[in-house]
Amino acid sequence: MSEFGREHPRNLIPELCNQFYHLGWVTGTGGGISIKDGLKKSQCTPLFMLAYRERNAGAVIHTHSPHAVRCTLLYDKEFVITHQEMIKGIKDATLERYLRYDEKLIVPIIENTPFEKDLAGSLAGALRAYPGTSAVLVRRHGVYVWGDTWQQAKTMTECYDYLFEMAVEMKKLGLDPALNPESEKNGEK
Ligand code: ZN
Repeated sequence: MSEFGREHPRNLIPELCNQFYHLGWVTGTGGGISIKDGLKKSQCTPLFMLAYRERNAGAVIHTHSPHAVRCTLLYDKEFVITHQEMIKGIKDATLERYLRYDEKLIVPIIENTPFEKDLAGSLAGALRAYPGTSAVLVRRHGVYVWGDTWQQAKTMTECYDYLFEMAVEMKKLGLDPALNPESEKNGEK
């Protein structure tokens, strides 16, 4: 441990990277973390800057989580899930509150590009089209998640990852994660 405190980005970023590595979120050269006023520079920096500028984020996490990638193979333009407890861990910027269990969580999906920096245009478009979202999925690539603080960004990344995995498993079982179980019971469409 250096002379900086545990929460200094110089100590925090390697520690978070280590945790994320063991979750399979950042393996090989993939993924990254940026904390405002942090020190890490990577190819993802212009993308992280977008979330800082457009969303006033305090931290951005980018993972190559296999759950996120699998989701982008199963959904077209949007990831949609509802009636899952972990949805309550996701904050909607437009509503200015955390979502309810029975609300629909929607995450836009953008197409991947050969160079990560070229994602900036479509990422900016997704941020404008989905003003409430705190995440954007990139097809066959991964996910960007941002929060007011690094703690919030990390918690939401964990909730998203859980929900991505859940959705993939539900689809494998022939269940629709976007379906409201109540409306099915009442015979509604
Ligand atoms: Zn990446």
